[in-house]
Amino acid sequence: MTQKKDPDKIMQEFRQRQSRQFIAIAATLFIICLCAVIYKRPDIFGEFSTSTLVGAQIVIIASYVVYTAVNWICPSCGKYLGSDINRKFCKKCKARLQ
Ligand SMILES: [Zn+2]
Repeated sequence: MTQKKDPDKIMQEFRQRQSRQFIAIAATLFIICLCAVIYKRPDIFGEFSTSTLVGAQIVIIASYVVYTAVNWICPSCGKYLGSDINRKFCKKCKARLQ
């Protein structure tokens, strides 16, 4: 991957990756909360075993980690962007992201 990409393209791609990342975070949190609610309210949702719900949470967290590793990378150099969702510059290649 070249580091001589068009800065506008880098910022545009970063925005797409950032919005996908927000969706992934929201979906992950939603499903984790949903599992907790299902566990707390068997009267509404029916009985699920603890291991089923814990298993579901492990699967969703693992999916989130894998998705983040693929999505949350610098559009310029392809390195992982770290925990800051509002990062302005890539800490590896110093490309401007937004
Ligand atoms: Zn970079």
